[in-house]
Amino acid sequence: MSENAVSNWQRWLLKPSVLPLARIFVVLVCLSLVATDGWLIWTNRAIQLRDAEVETSNLASALARQATDTLKKADTVLISMVERLEYGGTGPAALSRLQLLMKQHVHALPELHGLFAYDRNGNWLASSFGTPPVGANNADREYFIYHRDHPNDHSVHIGLPVRSRTTGAWIIPVSRRFEDAQGNFLGVALAGVSIDYFQKFYATFDVRAHGSINLVMNSGELVVHSPFNEKLIGASIADGVIFRDLLPESPTGTQMLTSIVDKVERLYSYRQIQEFPLVSIAALARDDILADWRRDTVVQLTVVSLLAGLLGLFGFYLIRLIKQGLLAETELLATRDALRSFNQRLEKQALEDELTGLANRRRFMRTLEDEFARAARYQRPLALILFDVDYFKQYNDIYGHSAGDDCLRSVALAIRSGQKRPADLAARYGGEEFCLLLPETSSEGALQVAEQVRLAIEAQAIVHAGCPWMRLSLSAGVQVCVPNPEDGPEALIQAADKALYAAKAAGRDRVQLFDPNIAQFIG
Ligand code: GH3
Ligand code: MG
Ligand code: MG
Repeated sequence: MSENAVSNWQRWLLKPSVLPLARIFVVLVCLSLVATDGWLIWTNRAIQLRDAEVETSNLASALARQATDTLKKADTVLISMVERLEYGGTGPAALSRLQLLMKQHVHALPELHGLFAYDRNGNWLASSFGTPPVGANNADREYFIYHRDHPNDHSVHIGLPVRSRTTGAWIIPVSRRFEDAQGNFLGVALAGVSIDYFQKFYATFDVRAHGSINLVMNSGELVVHSPFNEKLIGASIADGVIFRDLLPESPTGTQMLTSIVDKVERLYSYRQIQEFPLVSIAALARDDILADWRRDTVVQLTVVSLLAGLLGLFGFYLIRLIKQGLLAETELLATRDALRSFNQRLEKQALEDELTGLANRRRFMRTLEDEFARAARYQRPLALILFDVDYFKQYNDIYGHSAGDDCLRSVALAIRSGQKRPADLAARYGGEEFCLLLPETSSEGALQVAEQVRLAIEAQAIVHAGCPWMRLSLSAGVQVCVPNPEDGPEALIQAADKALYAAKAAGRDRVQLFDPNIAQFIG
């Protein structure tokens, strides 16, 4: 059964449609490997971008917090200066005390570059740098003009960055107006917040090669830009997407944008600072975010493609091997089957008479030995009838050898009709001699069968001009015995042969039972 199952399976595998299917399967496996890797790579890319979003967003928050804290400190100092100027007056003693206080503040707060007080005309009243230079006037500064012209605005004012007239350093002017009891403009108190302080703080963040950190006025002008670029201080990005489209919609946000300043594509996170008119912006360049991912992807894709390629090649090679193995096995099985049937044919030929299809002499002898032994063991009768065609030499002479063969085939039919039971055996003993071996058969039974065969030939009425009665006939010698275990079957053959001889001697066309007396006489 298993042999059968294997051959069915083999037959299926060897179908012409299966091989392309197996190849398609291998290709699909390789493709799915690459596709899965591709999907992982893509997911990884999304994760990198998502992480960068979180990173820039957190950074924008930290920047906003720091800017708020810094400016609040400056404003706290301003509030105390305004209080002194408004209630302490601007007399020499008051200003001298104020100047001392201003110096102490600047010394204590590194974010302050300097503190200043100007009168209603912009003339310097006091400075943390000491006695103001003679004739110094800041009436032209934007913050001074603003406070002078906005009597109702008592809040802090953040101005565009300016270069300090004292040191040349870049500062963010944080200022407040002070006035008399009637609300008349008396002057401006100014805290110069050091841009360098911001730059140093911003430099502590790693924004990789092309990232940037910015502090921008609500109006779009850059206040601080890291990495530091002096040309960008005060430059406007009001036309950029953040100020034009995003900020009006939401005070915070993150988006991949192309910079209007340097055209670099970056992931920008912005945050509107609540207490001051400023916006913090942190940005990481897209190329920087994806640099590691790109490098890993190249390595990963190379390895996976190589693996998929190798897998594919191995799969194809394996399919070929299987196919070849199966073919070889099938051929082997076919050869085995052919050999088996050839052997069976040979075996049949070895035991069968070619001309008549009856058992040949070899088979007869084997069967005789077996039946003889069995009959001896059980002490049962065993009958043997030997037939010989009468005047057959003449038949050949008259009608030719080929007609003689046809005649022998007809005789064989009659002999075969003598086989009544499964154990009976009809055989060609040699030439025109035939025999019937009949186990478990008495003399009467054997004589009866022999006579039936003789009559069957008579009934065929084969014309034989060489025979005195003008038709073909045969003679039969019969011997029946209960064999002695010590004897061999030769005695049985000899006895039957002797009986046959007696039949011939008695005139042919007859059946003769073996008679020991006659046999002795003939012998
Ligand atoms: P008898 O009546 O005494 O048996 O005479 P007979 O002619 O039959 O005697 P014999 O045994 O001498 O002759 C047998 C002949 O049978 C001789 C041979 O040519 C012929 N013979 C034997 N085998 C075959 C065969 O296979 N085919 C043909 N056509 N003839 C065969
Ligand atoms: Mg003969
Ligand atoms: Mg003969």
